[in-house]
Amino acid sequence: MRILIVEDENKAAAYLRKGLTEGGFIVDVAHDGQDGLFQATNNHYELIILDVMLPKMDGWSIMAELRRLNINVRVLFLTARDDIEDRVKGLELGADDYLVKPFAFSELLARVRSLLRRSIGQPQDKIVVADLMIDLIKHKAMRGAVRIDLTPKEFALLVLLAKHPGEVLSRTLIAERVWDINFDSDTNVVDVAIRRLRQKVDDEFEKKLIHTVRGIGYVIEER
Ligand code: CA
Repeated sequence: MRILIVEDENKAAAYLRKGLTEGGFIVDVAHDGQDGLFQATNNHYELIILDVMLPKMDGWSIMAELRRLNINVRVLFLTARDDIEDRVKGLELGADDYLVKPFAFSELLARVRSLLRRSIGQPQDKIVVADLMIDLIKHKAMRGAVRIDLTPKEFALLVLLAKHPGEVLSRTLIAERVWDINFDSDTNVVDVAIRRLRQKVDDEFEKKLIHTVRGIGYVIEER
């Protein structure tokens, strides 16, 4: 398993490299954004650990470029700011997970292992959140033993949320991913769709799974 660390702080980069190498990974390090993008596009990595604030090119630009080039690699980004908008921005750009600095190495290692278990290329066939089970092959959703009938759009919306349990997804991101258009002017469409989805997925059940994060978007999680 080969991992690229893009981190300009030498001490942090050396610490991550040492820990991950000891954890059995092959690790490369880039110390600025340009070199990071170069290595990411010229080598094959299972995971990129990407700092946001970097000289020459920031982490977000790198991620946007990787997605533009269709380089399908998992990205864990490191943000120094405990700012929910930062996280949303990272996830909108296609990051798989994030960690807020400072973090314990054990936490990083747990996230890395969890990300690497999620295979890319090989699609998942089932997603489970609490008693909600989504069968991606049969296109059906169940809560416990109860079958939930969804329209194709509602199904796509539920899958998007369920693929990111615990992550707040913005209306803009949801609009882009589910309707494939930019709804900047009218994300009300998302609110309406979420309301309908909730009627089917949550209303009849004691435990609610879809939650509103005011001013930001929606998240699916067991609370
Ligand atoms: Ca930095």
